[in-house]
Amino acid sequence: DGPVIIVGAGHGGYQAAASLRQAGFSERICLINDEVHLPYQRPPLSKAYIKGSAGPESLMFRPEKFYQDRKIELIAGRAASIDRAGRKVHLASGETLAYGHLILATGARNRLLDLPNANLPDVKYLRILDESEALRAIIPSKTRVVVIGAGFIGLEFAATARIKGLEVDVLELAPRVMARAVTAEVSEYFQARHREAGIRIHLGVQATSIEAEGGKVTGVSLSDGRHLPADLVVVGVGVLPNIELAAEAGLPVAAGIIVDEYLATADPNISAVGDCALFASPRFGGSLRLESVQNATDHARCLAARLTGDRKPYDSHPWFWSDQGDDKLQIAGLTTGYDRVVLRGDPARKAFSAFCYKGDRLLGIESVNRAGDHMFGRRLQGMDRSITPEQAADESFDLKSALA
Ligand code: FAD
Repeated sequence: DGPVIIVGAGHGGYQAAASLRQAGFSERICLINDEVHLPYQRPPLSKAYIKGSAGPESLMFRPEKFYQDRKIELIAGRAASIDRAGRKVHLASGETLAYGHLILATGARNRLLDLPNANLPDVKYLRILDESEALRAIIPSKTRVVVIGAGFIGLEFAATARIKGLEVDVLELAPRVMARAVTAEVSEYFQARHREAGIRIHLGVQATSIEAEGGKVTGVSLSDGRHLPADLVVVGVGVLPNIELAAEAGLPVAAGIIVDEYLATADPNISAVGDCALFASPRFGGSLRLESVQNATDHARCLAARLTGDRKPYDSHPWFWSDQGDDKLQIAGLTTGYDRVVLRGDPARKAFSAFCYKGDRLLGIESVNRAGDHMFGRRLQGMDRSITPEQAADESFDLKSALA
């Protein structure tokens, strides 16, 4: 009972507010927003937004009127501390908000590069709208970018920068791109596609320093002794979950804010959702922290349902996408821990799916330009069904028959 205060107005925070009202929650809802924009979508920041010319309003989930009509109070500022005994949040502005339930949707922040010259203006990161704007504004005046990190965001940006006419080098410490997230088959496909587009990908190397002259970046030195010229460096070396607010309030944290399968922290009046939450997952048999739109929005919906009387454990199936140049990668399920990969379709024809198995169990499907396989995978998982590796590999096997 009482007001719901939501800290963080990203994908999770916005969805929690919207879903609470949709479910009929009638008390006060405050959405604390430390960014200067209305809540917006993050995925385009490294893709369409950088490529195009649309303004920030094209990214907004909803116009201001949506919040006004639903009495969702957008409060500009930062939550500075939580008084759990008094059920209050103190904002950096000095304002105090009382809560019946507190939702932490604080997301994650860029992991910063710890290298000489990493704080120069031409060294950029890509997490928030203002960073994407800043990059979009300077790209026309740049000729050569070194992208540090070949994860999703690094590669999405690299593809976009290349389309924009820049010379692009990508550095990756691992032996293949997106190594922690996808199978070798999918890594190899994307490596080949980015190289075809003229992007140079350097694997198994690290940046050791950023060189500059008069405050302007001139290049990046690598661990193998090479030096790459550059007038722009974009860093995509992962994120750190924003757990400090919870930790300082004495809530248990580890690689995220620890929550149970209902997304509740150790304090029954405080929950956490999205990128910041390390949640117990009976389905996957352990704790997970995921960084995806699906995870943040489904967490928020599950929590909003609980706060309006429909208490169920969080049990959604993960899915994800990444657009890189002309290719669309979609992942259904969690593919980590697989011991067998079966391909359906043909990488040479730029359309295939990697079905990932552990023994006979289908863990997930990584699809490249095969949206039908992806949707099939999500529906199959929703039904808790599987198909055999032999069926997956056989293009004449009708996937729909497995859903009947
Ligand atoms: P966020 O959306 O990060 O929101 C957290 C908000 O809380 C932020 O605005 C932050 O400033 C604010 N905050 C933190 N602390 C405080 C405080 N103390 N007080 C007030 N506010 C605070 N996912 C996909 O599934 N597909 C994609 O293609 C994809 N592309 C992406 C591209 C980019 C460039 C980025 C950055 C992410 C992408 N993601 C993608 C990931 C996805 O955007 C995140 O998983 C999602 O935004 C997580 O939502 P969240 O609400 O947990 O956190």
